[in-house]
Amino acid sequence: MYSDYHLHTEFSDDSEYPMESLVCDAINMGLKEICFTDHVDYGVKTEFGSHNARIHKGKPVTNVDYPRYFKAIKALQSKYHDQITIRSGLEFGVQAHTQDAFLKLEQTYPMDFIILSIHQVNDQEFWTQEFQDGKTQAEYNRAYYEALLDVVKHYKAYSVLGHLDLIVRYDEQGTYPYDDVKDRIREILKVVIQDGKGIEVNTSYNRYGLSDMTPSRAILKLYRELGGEIITIGSDTHKAEHLGAYIDETKEELLKLGFKYHHTFDKMKHIAHPIVIK
Ligand SMILES: [Zn+2]
Ligand SMILES: [Zn+2]
Repeated sequence: MYSDYHLHTEFSDDSEYPMESLVCDAINMGLKEICFTDHVDYGVKTEFGSHNARIHKGKPVTNVDYPRYFKAIKALQSKYHDQITIRSGLEFGVQAHTQDAFLKLEQTYPMDFIILSIHQVNDQEFWTQEFQDGKTQAEYNRAYYEALLDVVKHYKAYSVLGHLDLIVRYDEQGTYPYDDVKDRIREILKVVIQDGKGIEVNTSYNRYGLSDMTPSRAILKLYRELGGEIITIGSDTHKAEHLGAYIDETKEELLKLGFKYHHTFDKMKHIAHPIVIK
């Protein structure tokens, strides 16, 4: 199964990729299944259509226009149903104080798949260094995993954890030693497995030039040791050249780590597919 389970389009504030172009590109490159996972980040982004949205690079920074988004996915599903399976999802950037809003959203719009990501803590972003500033490397790394652990203990309406060690991507001091955060990561993975959820491998580690996978091989190994099986593979596409990228390479890495299956989702239920290299 050649699938891509992490895709951003024109409905995300940080992408301009038209949804239908993405579908046509996916068909042309032989993808059999895709899932749209545009961004929702309560706390730091205003709702679509609100007048007080922050402007970044000429575009209002807002969450997805939900009614138009789900309508567009439905239309593409019926237009291209004999060429590709299209699933509907979102990427939730959850924080301690926004969990109720996400629960409400998930109940209002039933989806196939939800990525749970930590993009901010206390409304402070990682990619701008706002969260890391004024903290030691140990402090911001521990605080990141503490926040993730706290969220997974309480928030259960999701399918997989997105880019579990995202903080590595934005760590200007280099990668913080795994052994110093391993205990927290173990706790997080135990909750994920116990809840019947999964994790994703985010193939964008290739384009970010990271030295390890996302999450790292050590984390993936630990996940397997603890009994974790559910894994999705997603490119975190924001533009055409990201689509479907490094998925075969990631499958090879997963096979080496002992994983035999990757997964897709239908109405929040996981479906296993043997990992086969094209
Ligand atoms: Zn993300
Ligand atoms: Zn994403």
